[in-house]
Amino acid sequence: MTNTIAIVGRPNVGKSTLFNRLVGERKAIMDNQSGVTRDRHYGYGDWTGKYFTVIDTGGYVVGSDDVFEEGIRRQVKLAIDEATVVLFLVDLDAGLHPLDEEFAEVLRRYGNKKPIYLVGNKADSAQRVQSVGEFYSLGIGIGDIFTISSQTGSGTGDLLDAVVSHFEQEGVEDPDAGIPRITVVGRPNVGKSSFVNTLLGEERSIVTDIAGTTRDAIDTRYNAFGNEFILVDTAGLRRKARVDEDVEFYSNLRALRAMEASDVCIVMLDATRGIEAQDVAIIGLADRNRKGIVILVNKWDLIENKESNTAKEFEDEIYKRIAPISYPPIVFTSTVTKQRVHKAIETVMEVYANKTKKIPTSQLNEVMLKEIEAHQPPSSKGKMVRIKYVTQLPTHTPVFAFFCNLPQYVKESYTRYLENRLREHFDFTGVPIGIVYRKK
Ligand code: GDP
Ligand code: GDP
Repeated sequence: MTNTIAIVGRPNVGKSTLFNRLVGERKAIMDNQSGVTRDRHYGYGDWTGKYFTVIDTGGYVVGSDDVFEEGIRRQVKLAIDEATVVLFLVDLDAGLHPLDEEFAEVLRRYGNKKPIYLVGNKADSAQRVQSVGEFYSLGIGIGDIFTISSQTGSGTGDLLDAVVSHFEQEGVEDPDAGIPRITVVGRPNVGKSSFVNTLLGEERSIVTDIAGTTRDAIDTRYNAFGNEFILVDTAGLRRKARVDEDVEFYSNLRALRAMEASDVCIVMLDATRGIEAQDVAIIGLADRNRKGIVILVNKWDLIENKESNTAKEFEDEIYKRIAPISYPPIVFTSTVTKQRVHKAIETVMEVYANKTKKIPTSQLNEVMLKEIEAHQPPSSKGKMVRIKYVTQLPTHTPVFAFFCNLPQYVKESYTRYLENRLREHFDFTGVPIGIVYRKK
């Protein structure tokens, strides 16, 4: 388990201010757009050589006046489940608030398994520090009660010293490393938002930001069906795009950027419309960008009188249209009946595994040199090409270097031959393969 600090407390006590201070410059997240539900806010920080994750659980409460018992219960449960240490934040400026008592009660009910610290925030003056006394009645917290100012940072060092004493391990600097980044693209109304909301509704998700994209881009980290992945720019999908924004979806810079920042691209089609020119274009683009690709044929529930070969006919038509690209898997889904939503995510995970795997050089040569023997490169302008050796390059996406005497004389048709043999012997479903020739 990673080192995790969860911050709980009623609205306005300063949870997100403290969150931002703890994660420093590294992954600050602000999602202050009104009407947008704040999801769990995750960020990463470190203190005296120990790395940790911080969760601002305030996201479970929609709006500021809207604190229901159920919201409090969920927030606290989340914190207790996920955290190594819980910080129960109160506002020394405002004084004891009835909601603080409600939080304290729920914390007492669920919180006996984890260390909880009562933290008085907004201790900007000595007088405010004194006022922490009235919170003793909450009967919450182990040991010291800390008074801090999230705004200035005073007191947070002492608090962190106490917190990290509960961490047995150093932790990991970037827990997102090795977790696939995914984006969902497709024409308007194919069901992209419904798909994302299905995942969001059913599974736990966390939100982090990414550098270098639009300011309001939000990435969501999911744990769905036991798989962890990051959905790039969920905000762009979840906010119901205005019609005029949506029309030119494929020329939409936002969607293209999201694709560039991803490992695997889910291209969603509408079963009632089949594959269209724009879909073919986006698949070509993903291929050129060397992204993993999974095609979802959504709204499969709307296809009536399905026969045993209906899906096969759909597949044939799609592969015909996207040729010579042949590698993307196709999954038939419905976000309404939830049919194969799980399968879709599993397929994405498989594609990511294929994209990141490395074939040992010995195995590669054993298999491929035989294939080359069986079918030599055709001679070109009287030149004989001889391939001696092959190795997979240490790139982010599979690229194979074939070493030969005359790299410039290998024909395109022979590259296809090599790609097909590679795909036969090794599973690269969903992944574009690069082939280069090097002089030996
Ligand atoms: P949250 O709703 O619990 O996430 O609270 P916020 O982090 O949004 O903070 C609520 C308000 O309290 C904001 O106006 C902050 O600027 C302010 N605030 C947060 N920490 C401090 C502090 O240490 N001192 C003072 N004076 N104000 C603070
Ligand atoms: P987006 O524009 O691609 O994000 O599409 P939406 O998720 O907004 O969906 C557009 C419409 O299609 C909405 O009315 C959805 O309820 C509907 N829809 C989405 N997925 C499915 C599905 O699997 N089956 C059916 N029958 N309708 C769906």
